[in-house]
Amino acid sequence: MKKQSIADILQLKGEKQELTAYGWVRTSRDSKAFGFVEMNDGSVMSNLQVFVDKEVSAFKDIMPKLTTGTSLRVRGVLVESPGGKQNVELKASEIEILGSAPAEDYPLQKKRHSLEFLREIAHLRPRTNTFGAVTRVRNALSFAVHRFFQEQGFLYINTPIITGSDCEGAGEMFQVTTLPLDNVPKSDGKVDYSQDFFGKQTSLTVSGQLNGEIFACALGNIYTFGPTFRAEHSNTSRHLAEFWMIEPEMAFCDINGNMDTAEAFLKYIINYTLKHCAEDMDFFNKWVDKGRVDMLEKIVNSTFTRTSYTEAISILEKAPRDFEYPVKWGIDLQSEHEKYLTEEVFNGPVILSDYPRDIKAFYMKQNDDHKTVRAMDVLVPRIGEIIGGSERENDLHKLKARIKELGLREEDYWWYLELRKYGSVPHSGFGLGFERMVQFVTGMQNIRDVIPFPRAYQSADF
Ligand code: ATP
Ligand code: MN
Repeated sequence: MKKQSIADILQLKGEKQELTAYGWVRTSRDSKAFGFVEMNDGSVMSNLQVFVDKEVSAFKDIMPKLTTGTSLRVRGVLVESPGGKQNVELKASEIEILGSAPAEDYPLQKKRHSLEFLREIAHLRPRTNTFGAVTRVRNALSFAVHRFFQEQGFLYINTPIITGSDCEGAGEMFQVTTLPLDNVPKSDGKVDYSQDFFGKQTSLTVSGQLNGEIFACALGNIYTFGPTFRAEHSNTSRHLAEFWMIEPEMAFCDINGNMDTAEAFLKYIINYTLKHCAEDMDFFNKWVDKGRVDMLEKIVNSTFTRTSYTEAISILEKAPRDFEYPVKWGIDLQSEHEKYLTEEVFNGPVILSDYPRDIKAFYMKQNDDHKTVRAMDVLVPRIGEIIGGSERENDLHKLKARIKELGLREEDYWWYLELRKYGSVPHSGFGLGFERMVQFVTGMQNIRDVIPFPRAYQSADF
């Protein structure tokens, strides 16, 4: 027989059936004649209430042992609960303690712990309401990501995690090597990578995009969903050194089609999560960020504002307040600017396009003004940039000229250039930082609290 989760059990309508439940004690209450145990197994936010009748001789002295954190198997009859708060409760006939959790040192007590403290006990924090909810929402979001793209006929592809092309340049890279660090082989004073595992210098990927383009330029619409690594030294609430990124790439698609996909995609995965994680979302709405659910529902039913970088700069220049980073055409927008635009000017998501070429990557399609490229970023309230994307340069000569202009080496990009030499097509894509998405949906302030095991500068525990 399939083991019933507490989620399954709470769906039953109290039909007096006999069943077995498994889980961990969240709290317990003891009184003279009986006790109550709140039990949770992570399948849902709600606990299963277990009724313990102390007249039953086996239960006479059991209550003091059922402390927070204790794991249990409980057999009993599910009955309608007279208590009112819950519909059903389990009237225990048999209780087996699977693992005790000594109350004097179990780190998770009834009181609310700080998120900072919980980061230090990442092996136990999944047992809290907050991390249970984050984990279920993260799961729903990742399922929705696949569902959205699969419904649209996109192919899921896996791009390499170890990369030998140093042409990605989207951020600081982590090197991968088996060379002995205390005795690195050298020739002509430089590290001799021919002796390294791959016979060349390799790193962890910062983006699957360039490889993704290869498949889009053969199969049409593809997406990746994988880990990405950036040696970010910045200690911010929205940067990790290891994070997950979703990168669709579409052939025969220009920047407008790219924006349409990005907008439809964000709305779809938000909507899916609101529908399938209603109880968890209520929790975030109540305890983490009041009004979050309303804001998300509004976004699902809205049309995203689309405007240009240039227009955004002129709005920021006219803003009736000072920014820490002064605004002028050509700057990279800072999070304070992105927040001002989304929270105070447009009151919702904004898609900005046509950024200055000098602050964007070499592969973005150049506009005729010779000043801007067909980049598009999606900015959302509270987070700022959540998606970065562009139409790609598909003109071989323009791409070569840009590579030269930036002092990059053509031979490093030979295969990327050949995609433009043979059957080049207009194509576009974007990257969504998955953890920023989980932050946006849950309202969790710090990105370290929306990934099971965060890796950040000077921190890689668990
Ligand atoms: P930012 O300017 O915010 O550092 P970026 O412009 O460097 O981001 P892109 O290279 O455009 O980022 O990556 C695409 C998406 O990946 C971003 O829009 C963001 O959602 C996410 N992202 C980028 N860097 C990180 C990081 N260090 N940790 C978590 N998510 C990230
Ligand atoms: Mn970006």
